[in-house]
Amino acid sequence: MANPAEELQEKMRVLREAYALQLPEKIQQVEKTCAAYQSSLDEETLHTLHRMVHSLSGSGATFGFTELTRVARVLEEGLKNIVTRKSPPNDEEFAVFRRQISGLRQAASSADTPAYAPPDFMATSPAPVEAAKLLYLVEDDVELAGELALQLSYFGYQVRIFNRLDEFLLAMKTTLKVLVIMDIGFPGDQMGGINAMREVQQGRATLVPVLYLSALDDITARLEAVRTGGRAYFSKPVNIGVLVDKLDELSSIMPPEPNRILIVDDSVSMANYHAAILEQAGMTVKVVNQPMEVMEALREFAPDLILMDIYMPECNGMELAGVIRQLEAFVSIPIVYLSAEKDMDKQLSAMSLGGDDFLTKPIKAEHLVSSIATRIQRSRMLRSFMVRDSLTGLLNHTAIKDQLEREVARAKRQRTPLSYAMVDIDYFKKVNDTYGHPVGDRVIKSLSRLLKQRLRETDVVGRYGGEEFAVIMSNTDGPTAIKVMDELREAFSRLSHLVEGNEFSATFSCGIADVAHFEDAIKLGDSADKALYEAKHAGRNRVVLARGKH
Ligand code: GH3
Ligand code: MG
Ligand code: MG
Repeated sequence: MANPAEELQEKMRVLREAYALQLPEKIQQVEKTCAAYQSSLDEETLHTLHRMVHSLSGSGATFGFTELTRVARVLEEGLKNIVTRKSPPNDEEFAVFRRQISGLRQAASSADTPAYAPPDFMATSPAPVEAAKLLYLVEDDVELAGELALQLSYFGYQVRIFNRLDEFLLAMKTTLKVLVIMDIGFPGDQMGGINAMREVQQGRATLVPVLYLSALDDITARLEAVRTGGRAYFSKPVNIGVLVDKLDELSSIMPPEPNRILIVDDSVSMANYHAAILEQAGMTVKVVNQPMEVMEALREFAPDLILMDIYMPECNGMELAGVIRQLEAFVSIPIVYLSAEKDMDKQLSAMSLGGDDFLTKPIKAEHLVSSIATRIQRSRMLRSFMVRDSLTGLLNHTAIKDQLEREVARAKRQRTPLSYAMVDIDYFKKVNDTYGHPVGDRVIKSLSRLLKQRLRETDVVGRYGGEEFAVIMSNTDGPTAIKVMDELREAFSRLSHLVEGNEFSATFSCGIADVAHFEDAIKLGDSADKALYEAKHAGRNRVVLARGKH
């Protein structure tokens, strides 16, 4: 398998070839339109001609045809002059245009530079998330090690247990990237864990992250722990919730959702080119070539940012931005123009109509990626205050309901299954009453993490209320959803929560409704709620599927 940089290079080569193949046809159209304009002197035709030439000047250099872009720019300037002075060209001027058009044809036969050289940041692919999920647990207490590994596995970690230090040291000789949980005291050596880590870290460019567990809590041990790469120090007995928090932080096991970009550009080749660059940088991209289709894409794709071309037939990018800004749901979505327009006044007026930024074509891949990524980072942060729950980071009540409507609409259009599950922790009042509110919060957080980690990336999880959660499972029918949620129910019930030496466990009940039986978001919600009530009534700690009418 080729590496990602080579793969992209190949993709670019194909796009470039496709672009080169279309060029003669495009230039011929320019020629025809110019002739049509000369005989009709019709203003509409002039605008079409201008747009065609503008599009050539914008795309040429991107695909390595710099001379084409240069000639097209000169021609575009001439046409712009005609547009603004509002009187048609004379015969001499038309002759100049025709000469320039044949200049275009000549330029089209030679691409001078390879269109695309991968920037440095693409040369290395990011470390696979899977690798970070692997944990080495080194603990001589066989029973404790087994129990800890089991608990950690519920949170999506893959744990390998070593009961002896020499086995661990041997394995580390061939392991590059791993998180280590290390006990400190071993038979025969009170500081055995620390000594082993010192040996492991020797000669490594980057230290292996390690979390220490220890029965002794003294400053010397803690100091040695830090010196040997210790990122945290836990006194036994270990609170699994706190341990997992730390592990999540260290392994960033929950990668942020990929940035979602909607590209609106009438030019298929330009849109695909930019899409390939953004996808390579790990973003999810949807392309719309017909400006009038943007509404549907907005609702269904729910992008983080819109990358908008300016000159398009039917309606231009600025008008489209104006329309989007009038929709309440999309007032805050960043709109970035990507256009060959170099005129500062035009750029500023485009921004006044609802744009957030203006990038000019051709643009370097790294610039495109970084300016989009920073803009999204900022807007996501602002938006997260509105749609995320602060305790769990899950979607809040309003956001999950909005999302359900979107997903149901999509499922119906695409005729795919969808299930909606409501989850409520059993006898939660008792947890609060017995152990206190902060412990209750921790149980809520552990369920939230479990849901996030065990469900697919395409499933959507929200905190519906206090200890109630909602899950949207796209492409999942009722019976499958039952299976999924029942596994989660089982896993949650086996988690043990630790308070001051006492352990307790909790369970949840779950109600599910699917779109095959309940056709809209409101009915789905009501039916899942009723099914949840049934589950509670039947004794709790169970999953119930709502029975449909047909
Ligand atoms: P049931 O099995 O019938 O669901 O019993 P329950 O005790 O869970 O009953 P109910 O759902 O009515 O009670 C939920 C309790 O959860 C009430 C409230 O005190 C508590 N709660 C709600 N939000 C939070 C929160 O954010 N943190 C904590 N610790 N407790 C919360
Ligand atoms: Mg409740
Ligand atoms: Mg409850």
